[in-house]
Amino acid sequence: MVGRRRPRGVTVKSAEQVALMREAGLVVARALERLAAAVAPGVTTGQLDALAEESIRGEGAVPSFLGYHGFPATICASVGAEVVHGIPSRDRVLREGELVSIDCGAVLAGWHGDAAVTVPVGECAEELLALSAVTEQALWAGLAAVRPGGHLSDVGAAVERVVRPHGYGLLEDYTGHGIGTAMHEPPDVPNLAPRGAGRGMELVPGVVLAVEPMATLGSPDVDELDDGWTVVTRDGRQAAHWEHTVAVTPDGPWVLTALDGGAAGLRRAS
Ligand code: MG
Ligand code: MG
Repeated sequence: MVGRRRPRGVTVKSAEQVALMREAGLVVARALERLAAAVAPGVTTGQLDALAEESIRGEGAVPSFLGYHGFPATICASVGAEVVHGIPSRDRVLREGELVSIDCGAVLAGWHGDAAVTVPVGECAEELLALSAVTEQALWAGLAAVRPGGHLSDVGAAVERVVRPHGYGLLEDYTGHGIGTAMHEPPDVPNLAPRGAGRGMELVPGVVLAVEPMATLGSPDVDELDDGWTVVTRDGRQAAHWEHTVAVTPDGPWVLTALDGGAAGLRRAS
């Protein structure tokens, strides 16, 4: 069967280029591992940001968010009702019972990696832990759908299939994205598939995507704060956000920002 034409601007990477992206992905994976371990009540998001920059630069890479359209930091740290793009600050002290999502990007030898985790601060309410766990599960379902012969809408269909039964909100206007020598490349990778799976661009080896579901306890309606970045839920309820960079390979998905290449998470998702 003939594949569909790829949307304008989508790049297909060679195996060698994907291997370079893996190195960038590992820089991000190791930074996020350190950051997740550092999250505790009393720590500031500014301290997390400094740790992220030290980790990334220590490996000879460069933080890709810093200066991106003027973004002033290495990570996005989004706490509580903040969904994404929270700006780290020395004044923002993490408190017991909050969820913080940490989004981190690095560029190494010209290639980008991008990933995010949601981490509980100390002891969190069961309902928040469940929100984060389901969002992470949706991420892995989406990643598992990134395989040759599949189509772009398979990702959103897989994410929705996990999230919908829980009644959580799923953001529509914020999406995952292609990634390569730029952090954001075509195509957009929606977390919804209103017309079902099997639609959109065909996924062929060398396509690299950032899959990043964002889910909320209440309504999916969001606002952007006056800082021009921080996206918050309109109803003030909490949100979770998980992300990985994944390459289509002839053998299936290769999760470039997972230390194990995605083996454990993809096994759980199957
Ligand atoms: Mg990200
Ligand atoms: Mg991203």
